[in-house]
Amino acid sequence: MHLTLADIHAAANRIRGLADATPLVPSAALSRLAGAEGLMKLEIAQPTGAFKLRGALNAVAVLGDVAGVTCCSTGNHGRAVAFAARARGLRAVICMSRLVPQAKIDGIRALGAEVCITGDSQDDAQTEADRLEAEEGLAQIPPFDDPAVVAGQGTVGLEMMAARPDIATLLVPLSGGGLAAGVALAAKTIKPSVRVVGISMDRGAAMFESLRAGHPVSVVEVPSLADSLGGGIGLSNRLTFAMCRDLLDDVVLVTEAEIYRAMQALYYEDRIVAEGACVVGLAALEAGRLDGRLPAGPVATIITGRNPDMGLFTRVMTGQDVTLGDVTVEGQRHDA
Ligand SMILES: *Cc1c(COP(=O)(O)O)cnc(C)c1O
Repeated sequence: MHLTLADIHAAANRIRGLADATPLVPSAALSRLAGAEGLMKLEIAQPTGAFKLRGALNAVAVLGDVAGVTCCSTGNHGRAVAFAARARGLRAVICMSRLVPQAKIDGIRALGAEVCITGDSQDDAQTEADRLEAEEGLAQIPPFDDPAVVAGQGTVGLEMMAARPDIATLLVPLSGGGLAAGVALAAKTIKPSVRVVGISMDRGAAMFESLRAGHPVSVVEVPSLADSLGGGIGLSNRLTFAMCRDLLDDVVLVTEAEIYRAMQALYYEDRIVAEGACVVGLAALEAGRLDGRLPAGPVATIITGRNPDMGLFTRVMTGQDVTLGDVTVEGQRHDA
């Protein structure tokens, strides 16, 4: 199973008119923090509010005749699979853990899919999706570790490099690595010198820990402002671990307090409502984690999704304390 740029071009053809051509626009916050031209790819403009629609549409498009589809998801993938299934007139059952915010569950039900809440981790949700696949004949659409999904996510990188071939650095939010693997494959095939950095939160960063160990490892999943970056990479990961290992130049981590401040920066300076997962690139720059590690030239990031829990989002924007499991991020106001 070796993906190439041709697979990403094929995915681009399948999703055309449904989930492509999101805007690539200047970012005041990113430009300030990078000290260079900062660009952001607005995947929040997708009909489901997140880039995951690209991979889900491509994966559902290549299925043969099936009784329906299922998946496990922290939310945005579930929403994407629900949307893609409805577009093909297929039944969809979305499996999620109890950590998922209610807003995401409601969004999925609104797309006509069945929702199945099970356990306290992504792994428990995965077990349920496996059962539905085995016992009810539903085709499982994995959230990241699947060639059609990675190829679909790679179309984000294809569009960015086509629009701005001068991009020197790509800062990519990193969880299971479907986005980072696809974007890195597209961007580096087109322009080998482009620097691609994956960024995760420092608690429960499954890909970071796995890369450090040299093989996929499991991590304890904890609540985070970047909830879309939670979950493991799968102990029998087939694709994204190797692709991230081979293609990413760097993987860096950011704290919850840094994510908090970066969410405020994106909102107050760029007027963008987005999830904590989107701002990890901004947070890494602000924390100095990329100092001396950026080539000259434009820096681009991907604003991956606009489906935060709005209660939590409002607390951050009004400078209040936020409690995430056993840690509390002290409130502070954005000075702008
Ligand atoms: C899924 C997701 C990510 C991470 O994507 P992976 O392919 O799992 O690395 C980042 N941001 C948002 C909003 C997501 O939904």
